[in-house]
Amino acid sequence: MNINDAKKALKTYFGYSNFREGQEQIINSILCQRDSLGIMPTGAGKSVCFQIPAMLFSGITIVISPLISLMKDQVNGLNELGINAAYLNSSLTNSQYLSTIENIKNYKYKIIYVAPERLLTDNFINCCLELNISMITIDEAHCISQWGQDFRPSYTKIIDFINNLKIKPIISAFTATATQKVKEDITSILNLKNPFVLVTGFDRKNLFFEVQKPKDKYSYLLNFLKKTNDENGIVYCSTRETVEKVCEYLKVHKYKATRYHAGLADKERKQNQDDFLYDKSKIMVATNAFGMGIDKSNVSFVVHFNMPKDIESYYQEAGRAGRDGSEAHCIILYSGQDLVINSFMIEHSKDRIYEDNEIEKRLKSKDRERLKIMNMYCQTKECLRKFILNYFGEQANDNCQKCINCITKYENVDITLAAQKIISCILRVKENYGTKMIINILRGSKNKRILTLGFDKLSTYGIMNESEIYIRDIINYLIINNYLRVTNDEYPLIKLENKARKFIKDKELLTMKICAEKDIEEIGKTKSSSKSKDVLDIEIDDNLLIKLKALRLEIASEHGVPAFVVFADSALKDMCNKKPVNETQFLEVSGVGQVKLERYGKLFLDVIKSYLNKE
Ligand code: ADP
Repeated sequence: MNINDAKKALKTYFGYSNFREGQEQIINSILCQRDSLGIMPTGAGKSVCFQIPAMLFSGITIVISPLISLMKDQVNGLNELGINAAYLNSSLTNSQYLSTIENIKNYKYKIIYVAPERLLTDNFINCCLELNISMITIDEAHCISQWGQDFRPSYTKIIDFINNLKIKPIISAFTATATQKVKEDITSILNLKNPFVLVTGFDRKNLFFEVQKPKDKYSYLLNFLKKTNDENGIVYCSTRETVEKVCEYLKVHKYKATRYHAGLADKERKQNQDDFLYDKSKIMVATNAFGMGIDKSNVSFVVHFNMPKDIESYYQEAGRAGRDGSEAHCIILYSGQDLVINSFMIEHSKDRIYEDNEIEKRLKSKDRERLKIMNMYCQTKECLRKFILNYFGEQANDNCQKCINCITKYENVDITLAAQKIISCILRVKENYGTKMIINILRGSKNKRILTLGFDKLSTYGIMNESEIYIRDIINYLIINNYLRVTNDEYPLIKLENKARKFIKDKELLTMKICAEKDIEEIGKTKSSSKSKDVLDIEIDDNLLIKLKALRLEIASEHGVPAFVVFADSALKDMCNKKPVNETQFLEVSGVGQVKLERYGKLFLDVIKSYLNKE
């Protein structure tokens, strides 16, 4: 059993001819019996990295995954590929549970998905003691660390389960985001032995990034959706109330939208999620409760109706677009209010339980720091892709040409005087106040607090008559460029960095980019004209694609699985491109393996052939 067997399995089962970045190395390391940790961005193809070794090992692989609701789809997906798999979680009835355990004991499955809470039940432990377990895989491994953004206490018990086994299997762990601290936690809590750690590039080349600050987010969203050609997408909102409002609004405007948040009954949540997965609803409006483990491959856009809490969450949520490699669009609709809501959530959220005050203080400060950087992402005029990649510790070019900032024409305006005024004002109040107060003083507000504090007597009072938004933009610019710093306190204060003192002293010239309004229309054109092209810049035959999608939907409904489980959009697009007319050619389509050829080859070939005859 070696990497050549893995390559064969990649083609036979998954229908792919080549490994993606990092897959080969990590599979090789697992096959060499070495504990392995894979840190790869959402959509990079982590599942294949453990599913292929699982197929090749003689024993069983147990996959620990946090999301019960999605295990069924993952298992269905594997069964569609001809791989025997099952899941154990609280959604099973007692008799289903017992019969699955019986089947496990009889080695009917190669892969078993288990919820972490199930691991330490007597029934499961006893079952495992008798089994030949080759590997334990921990998916979404960052959940093990309280320094990560999705800490789950049940994950810390995984090691007790492993220690219970007579022979320690290979451990493989996967996550899309891990800082140094989280990486250390995963390695030490799981007790990985001399692990092979693979961190792939975080760039998702097929994603277009954008931030907008519309006056009316609702009508902006509507206009955006008009350009998306009825494609599937997710709209994330920061609160349940906003989810309700946005979903209702879209329905009124005749969009097939559905909703998902923790306030809904389990049954409705499950139903809505299925409607989205099965393409009955085109748009999912949801809080961040939706999506972890969602591997729907044909999501064409992810809109953040509100700014998310940190770059980690953002990249994970945005990364749910374009998983199959097709072009996809990720946009944040920002407003200053988003910052307020997120700050409130950090201070008052009940989701997080802290062991003691000291830890609470440290973690909250970290959360504020993350939020601050998220906010900077929404303010920067530099390349958005570069910003994200730098955040994850990666180098990147200055100009990706695939984010709004890189394709927007900016004018450089002189902000020297404005910056001097802002910095002087911060000095006058002894660096003891936040952005809003500084702006109010500069604009000569008569608000009671200012008058009580006597700030109307300051020399910087009322010296700017520019708009609040403009002054805020400059302050943000000064923060991003390290002239100013915002503290991580509950009520953040603005402080001067040395660079600001030097700037005042040296009287250097300072310029900031401002969008030239007239170009906005052109930007829209650039993007929509690339819409019907694939990531490889291939024109897609839309008429054939519609026919293939219809056939896919028919098969999916018959089998009771989501459409993308039958074939990903990228596979259908490759069919449109290659137009295969026999089995050998059909096998060359990316995403067509032996099992899919046998199951669906004839049906799809018939559609393609009849289409070609009519052309
Ligand atoms: P992740 O878990 O890293 O978010 P997935 O495992 O869900 O990503 O994979 C994302 C998509 O990429 C899936 O549709 C998967 O079938 C596809 N994929 C995985 N490996 C390859 C490959 N080597 N070539 C082409 N597509 C691949």
